[in-house]
Amino acid sequence: MSDNDLIDLREVAPAEVGEIDLYQRREKIYTRKIEGFYQRVRLFSGWPLLLGYLLLPWASWDGRQAVLFDLPARKFYILGLTFWPQDFPMLAFLLMIAAFGLFAVTTFAGRLWCGYTCPQTVWTSIFMWLEQKTEGSRSQRMKLDKAPLSPEKIAKKAAKHASWLFIGLVTGMTFVGYFYPIRDLVYELVTLSSGSWQYLWTLFFTLATYINAGWMREQVCKYMCPYARFQSVMFDHDTLIVSYDSKRGEPRGSRKRSVEHKELSQGDCIDCQLCVQVCPTGIDIRDGLQYECIGCALCIDACNSVMDKMQYPRGLIRYTSEHELAGGKTHWMRPRIISYMLVLSVMVGVFSYNIVTRVPVELTAIRDRNQLFLTADSGAIENIYTLKLANMDNDPHEFDISISGIPGASIVGETRHALEGGEVRTITLRVSVEPGSLARPSTELDFRAVSPDSPSLQATAESRFMKPL
Ligand code: SF4
Ligand code: SF4
Repeated sequence: MSDNDLIDLREVAPAEVGEIDLYQRREKIYTRKIEGFYQRVRLFSGWPLLLGYLLLPWASWDGRQAVLFDLPARKFYILGLTFWPQDFPMLAFLLMIAAFGLFAVTTFAGRLWCGYTCPQTVWTSIFMWLEQKTEGSRSQRMKLDKAPLSPEKIAKKAAKHASWLFIGLVTGMTFVGYFYPIRDLVYELVTLSSGSWQYLWTLFFTLATYINAGWMREQVCKYMCPYARFQSVMFDHDTLIVSYDSKRGEPRGSRKRSVEHKELSQGDCIDCQLCVQVCPTGIDIRDGLQYECIGCALCIDACNSVMDKMQYPRGLIRYTSEHELAGGKTHWMRPRIISYMLVLSVMVGVFSYNIVTRVPVELTAIRDRNQLFLTADSGAIENIYTLKLANMDNDPHEFDISISGIPGASIVGETRHALEGGEVRTITLRVSVEPGSLARPSTELDFRAVSPDSPSLQATAESRFMKPL
């Protein structure tokens, strides 16, 4: 660059420099309603998820709530399984599988999760639908916002916010219902007899839904969601993305339908702006791939409807890949995808194996450290132990406690214990050993709890037996 190319900043008037805001004021986005193939897909993917979320806490399994994360009892009930704090590594592994699955889907098909199944997208769509029902179409809403306050405006706004709050309340109550028995929760909230934290969390999630889906909308995706920021790392040149085909569309320009655009040396884009008006994040897909694009495909449906009217081929905006846009072919099966599938299969296999072979009994043994040993009148050496026996099964079981590792060792105390389903029992017992059986001051000792009615239900715990030096 020569000196002549450099801009002398002193020559730039202050008014031209202007101020740069770190946080831009939000421009309200008025989205236009559009129907089309991908919106039907969104409907069919969103509704089952929404209904599943709302109805699942009401389902019962073996006389209890089918899915309940009982935090005070530190037990997670998921259908027929009960997860205890000891199982948290397994749940963490499950979350890792889910995250890895999301990465794999993103590499393959871009932001499918964001566009079709993310709760923020699903709830925002519901709130937008309610907005259209109460305030009217895009132009009617814009007119209403500019209009002075009137009884009609107040009535429409009140109806919109009341419906948003109602959906927020149902959502919040359902969410709390995953952590507190939902039938009790609803009864207690309706009869105003609930505990304070139930009110607090229901209010919190009601307001969170109302604010996120009603007011913040695309701001959550643009500024709060970390996934939006790093998902582009998972993209490659074969990832499916919503793209505008600029080779076909440019040079863009408005025209009458009757005009043969090829004669005018124009591309297929008639610059109608419909793709911008339907976009929930307010971007123009014709500017290229942007991190704000959540892949909802509204712009595809919008543009396809325009192409139909113009009698041009569909797909000016479409799901495609960078390779395809550059004139090549999309490689569906590529090393990255195959690696993801292999790793996912292994992870799912390991998790399934652990679930299937999981034994719902837990035993821990702690030797009494205050008293290293006792010497009985018979001369035998005794150690005291505290065992924690957890029956993590839903059914009651009896358990026999035995020891191994020291020849001739015996338990002084009750060895058979009947435990209710989900019960944890603390058992204190003594182990007695003849001094001649002990070669070392400290000898390893194993406790075993076995259910006589179901021998596969068994657990062991290691400890040590101490004798005088
Ligand atoms: S650009 Fe298209 S796909 Fe992306 S968010 Fe906007 S409407 Fe959805
Ligand atoms: S909807 Fe299609 S034709 Fe209209 S401006 Fe967008 S890309 Fe161009």
